[in-house]
Parts: sequence; C-alpha cells; structure tokens
Amino acid sequence: MILITGGAGYIGSHCAIDFMKQGYEVIILDNLSTGHMEIIERLRDFSFKEDVKGSFVDFINADIRDTYALNVLFNTYKIDCVVHFAADALVNESVIDPKKYYNNNVIGSINLLNAMVENNVKKIVFSSTCATYGEPEYIPIDEKHPQKPVNPYGNTKLAMEFAIKDYAKAYGLKYTIFRYFNVIGADSEGISGEWHDIETHLVPNILKADESRVFKLFGEDYDTKDGTCIRDYIDVCDLAHAHTLAYEYLKENTSTIVNLGTGEGQSVKEIFAAVEKALDKKIPLENCPRREGDPAKLIANPELSKNILGWEAKTPLEDSVKNANEWEKTLKSLNNVKNPEPQENFSRKAIL
Ligand code: UDP
Repeated sequence: MILITGGAGYIGSHCAIDFMKQGYEVIILDNLSTGHMEIIERLRDFSFKEDVKGSFVDFINADIRDTYALNVLFNTYKIDCVVHFAADALVNESVIDPKKYYNNNVIGSINLLNAMVENNVKKIVFSSTCATYGEPEYIPIDEKHPQKPVNPYGNTKLAMEFAIKDYAKAYGLKYTIFRYFNVIGADSEGISGEWHDIETHLVPNILKADESRVFKLFGEDYDTKDGTCIRDYIDVCDLAHAHTLAYEYLKENTSTIVNLGTGEGQSVKEIFAAVEKALDKKIPLENCPRREGDPAKLIANPELSKNILGWEAKTPLEDSVKNANEWEKTLKSLNNVKNPEPQENFSRKAIL
C-alpha cells in the first residue's frame, strides 16, 4: 500500500491517479489546509472506473504534525512506501511567515520520518524543488549543482533533503528525492488541477485573465532572448508517473536524487502566446515590474531521470495548456464547494 501525504493537492492528487492506474492501493493523508475534499471524492470516483486496476483505500483528514494520527495510520495499514507531498509551497509567504514553513515542512516531515522508522516503513519518495539550487551558477542545472536556496521555502526543502539522507544512513530507509521544475497542466479526464486560494503560478493566472482581471507579466528586462523569465515547464501527469516509476525502482535499487524537468526552456511570453493560441483568443496583458526573487532562467538537465528511471517528459505544451484550460472551466463550478472541518481530535475510530 502507498501512503500519499498531501494527496488532496495539485501534484499529490495526480500522483494518486497514476498509482491507481498502475494497479496500486492508495491511502491519502491530508489536513485540507490547501487541499480539497472535492478532489478526494473525485479520486474515489475515479478508482471505481472499470479500467482502473488499483484502489483508493482510505482518506485520513489529519496533519503530519499529529504524531498520534501517523502512528495509528501506520499501525492500521501495511504501508510499503510513503510519497510525501504535504507542505506549504508559496515562496513569498515563506519569507513573511517562516514559522509556518518550518513547522509544516520540517517539523511535520520529521514527524513523518520518525513514524516511518518506528513502524518499519522503509521507502520514501520526497518532493523537493529546484528552489533548493537558488540562483543558478550554470544551465542546464544537473543534480550536482550547488544548493544555495534564496528563501525559507527552499531552505525547508533542503533541510528535509539532509534529514532524509541522514535517516537513510542510520535507519536503512531508501529514498528518491525529486527536485521539480515548473509543473503545469491537468489530467485529461478532468479529475484534478491547480486549485489554490491564492494563485501565483503562470499558466492558471493567464487562463483566469479577462477584462476584469488582467494578466500581469512580471519583468520584461531580463537577460533572456525576449526579456522575460525562462522556465522548464513539465506536465503534471508526466511528473506524477515518475513517482510510480521511482517506487518500482526503489524496490530493487538504491536511493537517488533526480531532477524532474524537460530540459527545454520557455519564456513567459512564449507561454502566454501558447495559451492565446490554444484558446484562440486575445488575453489582456499588463507589463509589470519584476517580481522579487525570480531568477532569469531555470532549466533542468533531465539526463539522470532518463538514465535511472527510463523516464522522459512526453506531453506537448499545447496539451498541458488545453487540459489546464478544461480544468479552469470545471473549477468555476467548484469554487463554492467547501472543505469539511479538520478532525480536531483524531481517533482510531475516525479512520476505521
Ligand atoms: N509570472 C508572471 N505573472 C504571473 C505569474 C508568474 O509573469 O501572474 C512569471 C514569473 O515572474 C516567473 C514565471 O512566470 O518568471 C513562472 O512563475 P511561476 O510562479 O509559475 O513559477 P516559479 O518559477 O516562480 O516557481
């Protein structure tokens, strides 16, 4: 059985879809602070489809800082691998409120590692980020690139990379640490997609733009081909599949640290043009000053993921944009759907 923490969120839910497609049993733990109960229900519905070989075993509405909940969970279910997404991930917020980031991303993740060790769970796939590299010293960025994060979010992820490596050495855990580049898109069946109360990401912000909410392009004076920032945009379904491959790899092999990107860079203007083309409409745009902390160029060297996992990004940008747009339409009908209250007093009864 696979435990996915943060499975009610954007990347975690796509990962749950991929694991179920590949025939695995999935349990999700999420405190619904940024995730959505509606996504959990959609994942459950998806698991009942005839061609889905795996299953959705349970959803646990709890926090990774709740050690009691974690121990009950590991005692109740035979978990073979933890795929750990549960984290806060807004760079700006992490600068303003580092306490929140260290609490959730570090203390919560350490609790999870401790519970794994206590309950003899030996495999973890961890979602780290290219933000651990900081300002790039060379491009494309390989896994040996120095790690010098420039914000608390990157620091918390790097701290956990260190902790996982130390725990692995001492307690015999095996890990895959993935460093994600820019994740975009949505599954083609419309089950999940980007759904944030505060949307900061490029593609959803372009898709949401209209006369009353103009798309703001942050910075046209970077040292790049068209003056706008360049990023490596990777489709969320491709990215999710890498996690299933990582789990299969971990069964037979040793721990690894791997970038997940395409190896190709697109500028903000190129992405904007691709969205306008896919939607066949003009989108209102306003040129704005640079956003603080945005490096000019981030592109992954994806060779290791190819060599180790046999994984390569394959979804064309146009398909990612189209799927993301379909999801935006669905989202309009979901925005009033509310989450249930968190389970304040987690009890064994609550998960059985
Ligand atoms: N961006 C933008 N307008 C937006 C959101 C993002 O111009 O509303 C730019 C941002 O400045 C960066 C790129 O798009 O250069 C990617 O930003 P995103 O937040 O999606 O990802 P990041 O690379 O910051 O993790």
